[in-house]
Amino acid sequence: MNIILTGTGSPLPDPHRGGPSTVITTASTTILVDAGRAVVMRLAACGIIPPFLSAVVLTHLHSDHICDLNDVVTTHWVMTPEPTDLHVYGPKGTAQVVEGLLSMLASDIRYRMSHHADLQEAPRVIVHELTPGEQFLVGDVSVLTGATNHRPVEPSLGYRFSAEGVSTVVAGDGVPCSELDELVRGADAYVQTVVREDLVRLVPRQRFIDILDYHSTVRQAAQTAQRGGVRTLVLTHFVPTPALGEYDEWRAQAADFDGVVVTGDDLTQVSVTPLP
Ligand SMILES: [Zn+2]
Ligand SMILES: [Zn+2]
Repeated sequence: MNIILTGTGSPLPDPHRGGPSTVITTASTTILVDAGRAVVMRLAACGIIPPFLSAVVLTHLHSDHICDLNDVVTTHWVMTPEPTDLHVYGPKGTAQVVEGLLSMLASDIRYRMSHHADLQEAPRVIVHELTPGEQFLVGDVSVLTGATNHRPVEPSLGYRFSAEGVSTVVAGDGVPCSELDELVRGADAYVQTVVREDLVRLVPRQRFIDILDYHSTVRQAAQTAQRGGVRTLVLTHFVPTPALGEYDEWRAQAADFDGVVVTGDDLTQVSVTPLP
């Protein structure tokens, strides 16, 4: 199983980081988790066009995690030769988001269908709204949902992807909680969005400091990883964006975790393989 950090940024615009998105691949399945800014560009950079996606999975409906979902939908639609379903999984509220998105695209859909004789069906987006504890299959990947604590953003979900003898948890945003601990326990890899508390507190603006209420700090992510006994902790969604050469400092804050800590730029890949 492979993890690709297709977007390591946050809502704050950054010329070098796409908004939050992560790809999980196996030999036969490609799952996109969240669809932040520039996601289709980053997918293209690793050789994935939207028709190659087996499913899109959303952790929650904050704008930074879904703002380029419309690009995924449109590109999936126009690049597939035959009408093809795009499966979008997410928490309650996902159907309303997709409905609104298709409404926003209504003119474009009309233009393209009237221009192309071989494009006579609107995008087929199949929405699956999920609750914590559900399990389903996407290709050869078994997916388990778990509640996360990103309040007041509710509901929000983390996902555990199991295939090829390993499992990876992509937690999305949130602070540690017992449900996340449960989802992470015994996983091989754990991807957590993080903020640096020491740096965030330096910004004299309450709206910025507020983000500490509902995001894991690097230290908290390390502690969750340690409690869960995972082998690899992957940090993403960096706030603030790490300056050149600053990753060592970020990793140093994860000292509570005994395993491997991965940080990186967009398109960083992590291979997750079974223990020998
Ligand atoms: Zn969020
Ligand atoms: Zn976020």
